[in-house]
Amino acid sequence: MQRPDASVVHGTPAQAKDLPSVDRLLRNPQVLASIAEHGHTLVAAQARLLLERLRQQAQAGQLDSAWLEPSALAQQLAQQVHTVLRPNMRTVYNLTGTVIHTNLGRALLADSAVQHLLAMMAAPNNLEYDLADGGRGDRDRIVEDLLCQLTGAPAATVVNNNAAAVLLTIAALAQADAAKREVIVSRGELVEIGGAFRMPDVMASAGATMVEVGTTNRTHAHDYERAINARTALVMKVHTSNYQVQGFTTAVDEATLAGICHARGVPLATDLGSGALVDLSRWGLPREPMPQEMIAAGCDVVTFSGDKLLGGPQAGLIVGSKAAVGRIRKFPMKRALRMSKLPLAALEATLRLYLRPERLTQDLPTLRLLTRSVADIEATAHALLPAMTLAVAPGYTVSVRPLLGQIGSGSLPVERMPSAGLAIHPVPAKGRGRMLDELAAALRALPQPVIGRIADDSLVLDLRCLEAPQGLIDQLPALTRLLQ
Ligand SMILES: *Cc1c(COP(=O)(O)O)cnc(C)c1O
Repeated sequence: MQRPDASVVHGTPAQAKDLPSVDRLLRNPQVLASIAEHGHTLVAAQARLLLERLRQQAQAGQLDSAWLEPSALAQQLAQQVHTVLRPNMRTVYNLTGTVIHTNLGRALLADSAVQHLLAMMAAPNNLEYDLADGGRGDRDRIVEDLLCQLTGAPAATVVNNNAAAVLLTIAALAQADAAKREVIVSRGELVEIGGAFRMPDVMASAGATMVEVGTTNRTHAHDYERAINARTALVMKVHTSNYQVQGFTTAVDEATLAGICHARGVPLATDLGSGALVDLSRWGLPREPMPQEMIAAGCDVVTFSGDKLLGGPQAGLIVGSKAAVGRIRKFPMKRALRMSKLPLAALEATLRLYLRPERLTQDLPTLRLLTRSVADIEATAHALLPAMTLAVAPGYTVSVRPLLGQIGSGSLPVERMPSAGLAIHPVPAKGRGRMLDELAAALRALPQPVIGRIADDSLVLDLRCLEAPQGLIDQLPALTRLLQ
């Protein structure tokens, strides 16, 4: 059916005076059914909007008289009500080849985390209540022991995200003593994570005076030794999570740096960004630095994200010495950055999965997807191939392709993981760019939008993150309609 805002009049143009009143439209049997379901307020408001829009189109001579049909109006009104009620946040298929995709919500929660979240949110809970003595408790206690156990740190706290963890750590440690505001960082580690999170700006926001040492490619132990003085509050190491400095390079490892710092009474903090609680090389994946190694090396504070490789909710995890974490916890900004009970419930359940490391590749979706075999992904590609070929014919052809994906979210930025998927290729020699854009738009317009990427004159769907293809196959008739 043509949309009422289509400016093309096929039949006779309608007159504004022939449109029904709002009251009459609301007495239409189909509309009455809609009112019974959704109530008068919403349906009447949408009816007014619809009739006003049609009236303006009629006055401009741009309304086809087909729109005077009561059933056409009722159907359009039902469509509008549906659109208004549809949430903006929807699930999509992440077929980009980037497993932890920041724009697509990063890590997927494990079933146990979702279940725990649901149970905790639907009833009162002991968020800040000590069940042993009946007094006030601290929400940090919900995850502190687990985090200490998993990382070997003596203390831990959590905040809203890792950006907050870094900001709070620097602020709490750089503002403890007015005579000590300098925070030392290597020039090779002045990262920008995106979304305006840039190390120099974070230092300034935290009230610290940033002192850069070394050069872009080489920073030595003596660079730090020379820079530390009576005004030094903190030495900061930042994991270069979204780029790599290669070639003629030197950096000072945490153990060496911790020795230098502690000999001078200065704390050392490390921002790991992603940070993995398990050694990924045990599954043949590239290794990411682990918080427990940083604690063992002598770092006083280690910060990392909850929703990157850890595979949990958005969170900023801070582990470290009792003295440093104690200061961070007492710093007033902590209250403004504290974690809500929703992610806290999910975080606890996620961390508990790490107590059973042998089961992680089944229980933790992020790790399950990252360790999925190429043969398995290829099998999904072959299962999807016939239906996809049919859906996009005759304009496009489809083939199974070996692909290279990535972990994402600043984890191991230069490493690529072998994967597989479908490449959808426009048949005509001319206008391929436009056809690819149309196909990408049609995939995004599906009830559960499909997000792929355009590469080498094809639309590529990396199937690492598609564990069960049936739901997508069920949507393909809609894709065919959208392409017509
Ligand atoms: C991702 C990242 C952050 C920010 O973490 P969020 O959880 O996104 O706030 C900070 N530092 C590094 C090195 C990162 O990779």
